[in-house]
Amino acid sequence: MITWRFYPDVAWPVPGSNTITDTFGSTAGRTTPHNGLDIGTWSSGAYSWKYEIQAVKAGYVTAAGYESSMGYYARIDHGTYNGRKIEARYLHMESSPLVSTGTSVSKSQRIGWMGSTGNSTGKHLHIDFRDANDYYDPLTFLAAPHQKEVVDYWEKNPSLKQ
Ligand SMILES: [Zn+2]
Repeated sequence: MITWRFYPDVAWPVPGSNTITDTFGSTAGRTTPHNGLDIGTWSSGAYSWKYEIQAVKAGYVTAAGYESSMGYYARIDHGTYNGRKIEARYLHMESSPLVSTGTSVSKSQRIGWMGSTGNSTGKHLHIDFRDANDYYDPLTFLAAPHQKEVVDYWEKNPSLKQ
């Protein structure tokens, strides 16, 4: 069981990895600042493993499908938390999202698999948060799990190591 240290109602979206490969606002190699957070494969893990993507909070799927730059993606309205709206996009999934437009999701429900579809150079999840005005740093509400929590996750899910 992963313990969410700061915001108990908001879960980390990739329980199999705490690797942050690019932060919000970074400009390296970009023409515009990065509008989200990138989570890559686990540093001690294998690239080929199956990394499930989970909803960070209960919500409502406002769009899910494929688009050329986002790849396979889902957009979920997670409502308002601590006074701020969270409309999240989960991009570059490996294959079709496991949720459909117009359906509800629960917190930590599996919504897809990490991939590299769309405008992506390697397997990772791009997650971004928007409120009524603009994108903001997902780390406002997300806290990466400790290394031990990731180790425990893989011990419990050996079938995803493939
Ligand atoms: Zn990104």
